[in-house]
Amino acid sequence: MRAFNFSAGPAAIPLEVLDIAAQEMTNWHGCGMSVMEMSHRGREFISIYEQTHQDLKELLAVPDHFKILFMQGGGIAENAIVPLNLSQGQEVDFVLSGSWSQKSYLEAQKYCTASIAASSESDGFRHLPDPSTWRLNSKASYVHLCTNETIHGVECHEIPDLKALGHHSPLVIDFSSHVLANPVDWSRVGLAFAGAQKNIGPAGLTLVIVREDLLGHALQICPSAFNYSLVAQFESMYNTPPTYSIYIAGLVMQWLKRQKEGALSGVLALQSRNQQKAQLLYGAIDNSGLYENRVAKANRSAMNVPFYLKDESLNDLFLQGAKAAGLLQLKGHKSVGGMRASIYNAMPLEGVQALVSFMLDFERTKA
Ligand SMILES: *Cc1c(COP(=O)(O)O)cnc(C)c1O
Repeated sequence: MRAFNFSAGPAAIPLEVLDIAAQEMTNWHGCGMSVMEMSHRGREFISIYEQTHQDLKELLAVPDHFKILFMQGGGIAENAIVPLNLSQGQEVDFVLSGSWSQKSYLEAQKYCTASIAASSESDGFRHLPDPSTWRLNSKASYVHLCTNETIHGVECHEIPDLKALGHHSPLVIDFSSHVLANPVDWSRVGLAFAGAQKNIGPAGLTLVIVREDLLGHALQICPSAFNYSLVAQFESMYNTPPTYSIYIAGLVMQWLKRQKEGALSGVLALQSRNQQKAQLLYGAIDNSGLYENRVAKANRSAMNVPFYLKDESLNDLFLQGAKAAGLLQLKGHKSVGGMRASIYNAMPLEGVQALVSFMLDFERTKA
């Protein structure tokens, strides 16, 4: 039996996708070879790449003046690659709302003058500083925001409109852990990046979506393989792209396109389903005497739900019981402790129902 996997990443992949990949593993569409064995310049792989690119563009409604790049290195490499390409060695503003934006800020200091426009560190990263309070530098090359802090469970539910705040630097978002879970307002974004292993597919692929006018300003020291202009010019084939990860991502895109919730489909269907899942889980936590979530309600993540047992001596028993019930990888990140349930797109409502029913039962019988 397959378990419900609550891992923060690499995370669950829809079973339908894994089944298709298994069937196609040794001989893709009768071509006599596996996708892993194909030339990235051959007709077969180019068709996979083009379909994946097109489906992603459609699902996220990416406008034509943005480039979609399939890169490698993960989100952490982007912490260097973004300033190498966009900072022009000058000033960059960071909003610190959790561990991931903090990491981005520290790495960027190697390449530019990084400033903190706002931070919620003093309250343990339990809320997103309100955009109206950000101290933005009019000379900043860009503003960096992590729109879903995977470890602290803090989500930005509406991308801020910097122009409405009187600010004209482009906004860079790290949307690794909620990409494809909600529509994106591209009029407010200059660049978005995401490691694939949460909501797109296997680790090894990094998605970058960048407004064309931001290309062409990379620092001299920027490695060629990480130069967005070159990657864009070569349609993500400047170097060999992570072909198998792109193929699986493509199957995930097709799965996303098939999803329906009432009259909604694609990303909107997922958004609606994700809201139901989050409401169910947060509701159970808030109504219990044993569990608590400490994030400001308006900023709670619909993807990563950190929670604590008020009696922490029960942690091990909780994790053992959960595992026995087929509920895996619920242990919180080591930097914050407690538990964390990551309920990305691939987690069905039934998985969250099973978790909630286990939690209620555990509270009734063990606490
Ligand atoms: C997972 C994650 C990353 C990427 O980490 P890598 O290990 O480099 O792939 C970056 N940002 C956020 C918000 C993440 O959740």
